[in-house]
Amino acid sequence: MSWIDTHAHFDAAEFDTTRSDDWAHAQRLGVVAQVVPAVAPFNFETVRGLAHAYTGTVYALGIHPMYVNSLDVDVALAELRGALLANIEDSRLVAVGEIGLDGFVEGIDQDKQLAIYQGQLKLAREFNLPVLLHVRRAQDTVIKYLRQFGIKQGIAHAFNGSFSQAQAYIKQGIHLGFGGMMTFEKSNQIRRLAAELPIESLVLETDAPDMSPAWAYKENNYSYYLPRIAETLMTLRGLSAAHLSAQLRNNTLNALPKIQSVL
Ligand SMILES: [Zn+2]
Repeated sequence: MSWIDTHAHFDAAEFDTTRSDDWAHAQRLGVVAQVVPAVAPFNFETVRGLAHAYTGTVYALGIHPMYVNSLDVDVALAELRGALLANIEDSRLVAVGEIGLDGFVEGIDQDKQLAIYQGQLKLAREFNLPVLLHVRRAQDTVIKYLRQFGIKQGIAHAFNGSFSQAQAYIKQGIHLGFGGMMTFEKSNQIRRLAAELPIESLVLETDAPDMSPAWAYKENNYSYYLPRIAETLMTLRGLSAAHLSAQLRNNTLNALPKIQSVL
């Protein structure tokens, strides 16, 4: 059985002493690919380097909404555009990400967040790349600008909205990422979404080292937990491993076509 981790911060310092072993472990358990998003210009080279150093690894370039405070909007967008231009022919560059809006964490400049989000949607259009979206307490605004900028491909990662918001993403062509949160018995809403949304709209992710599953609560999360997270989804959907694995592979290819290069 093969699984794809559509969101892993494989560059995180938490993995510095164990990175190769962690990925080898994940691969032994059937994780055939991982998507490593950037968060700001400071890690563009790092995620690109990791994607070329590790088999099954692809990357995205983008500016995370939680990193905007220290950035100059125009300079940061120009740096991103330069990096996209330099790497657009790179088969391992699969998306613009991680981008979006965070209305949960306090102290982030909301105007800057919005300007950088809009600027990145424009770049996704220009380079014809899907988007990896980070969204907290901002689903409707994120969707509004996806529509406005004509973005029709990508993933709303760690989806945690309502059914109607899920439908709005799906209508826009965006897939929904589910991960460790599903493994908590108390996550009623997320488990219902994962169980009931159209299977074609789902993809799996860990968000390692964050969003740990129930069995690793308050510990680091790893891509090698993905097959066990997938078991939760099998149970919720009543699907066999073979069926779910094949379906998710198709879904991921629809969301991120360039990932084909490592599958
Ligand atoms: Zn992330």
